[in-house]
Amino acid sequence: MLKKFNYVDREGMHIKKVYCKVCGAILVDTIVVEEKQEKRGDKEFIVQTTALRPTTKYDELCIKFKDGSRHITPICKECKKQENLDLIGIYKADIKEALKEGFSLPFRKI
Ligand SMILES: [Zn+2]
Repeated sequence: MLKKFNYVDREGMHIKKVYCKVCGAILVDTIVVEEKQEKRGDKEFIVQTTALRPTTKYDELCIKFKDGSRHITPICKECKKQENLDLIGIYKADIKEALKEGFSLPFRKI
């Protein structure tokens, strides 16, 4: 069973976090790369610039299909070592996320 079938957190169109589908660990996170104080009129604002960055747990898994094609997907370093990963479930989660992004992945046999 996958802990995080819906493994991407979005705010509107922007990706905020990406989780390991298998265990739920954070793989990609939004971090503040710059913080500035800005004055607009007599009010001061803190303006943050953020960026998506992979965490130390980030790794990638290559799923090989029967037709010889491959699919690369994010996974954490620990789960990558596991045998008997639910590759079909992982790929289904990717198909679902791809649809949210507006493109479709083909159904392929593992
Ligand atoms: Zn994991």
